[in-house]
Amino acid sequence: MFIDTHTHLYDEQLLADPEQINRAVGLGVTKMYMPNCDSTTIEGMLQIADNWKANCMPMMGLHPCYVKENYKGELALVAEWLGKRKFYAVGEIGLDYYWDMTYKAQQIEAFETQIDWALQYGLPIVIHSRESTADCIDIVRKKQNGKLKGIFHCFSGTLEEAKQIVSLGLYLGIGGVVTYKKTNLPEIINEVGLTHIVLETDAPYLAPVPYRGKRNESSYIPIIAQKIAEITSTPIAEVAAITTANAANVFPV
Ligand SMILES: [Zn+2]
Ligand SMILES: [Zn+2]
Repeated sequence: MFIDTHTHLYDEQLLADPEQINRAVGLGVTKMYMPNCDSTTIEGMLQIADNWKANCMPMMGLHPCYVKENYKGELALVAEWLGKRKFYAVGEIGLDYYWDMTYKAQQIEAFETQIDWALQYGLPIVIHSRESTADCIDIVRKKQNGKLKGIFHCFSGTLEEAKQIVSLGLYLGIGGVVTYKKTNLPEIINEVGLTHIVLETDAPYLAPVPYRGKRNESSYIPIIAQKIAEITSTPIAEVAAITTANAANVFPV
């Protein structure tokens, strides 16, 4: 059994394929956690969650790329939803300095506010940290009161940063990038060990080799697990068992 800890199942490219979820479940990817982006993605995400109660779990949060001039209204909506329905994490939240720095201060404010809500509700956080890993770590360190759990999804930092995240008690989300030629992830995975990583696709983005550049989907999780098995010289069944246990440790039942 595998868990995809980060998949945008409600994305239009994926919705166009009604078999995507069946295919994943058929290959043993029995749990898929869906990060929210902003107010426009909630309805589609919750529809999937309602149709696939045993397999597809929703998160609630405002993605840093969607922090714009209306961010206060967007955050109010996140707060409202957290108060009225079960979610499995606050996510995806964080900082993205790659696409746009215009709203950097607001991104930081939104990130910190949403971490406070996660702590209030006893939920883990799923962090998006593009070109911003150091700042995200600083904020998590400031907020870590011993109770904060979470994942640095699509981890793309240095080995040193990976070690800091592990020492803060959070997990590294590893996806298709691990199958690419130019990546430091094999070294990082061998250094921190399987006990600190979880699997993700970030579908429909970042498909693993041999699908690189094409649409990604949750049924590719075993390809990512196989690559990690090779990197760590571990049987894939053990990779599945350990990463599934890690994900179960992060997300509430
Ligand atoms: Zn992300
Ligand atoms: Zn994402």
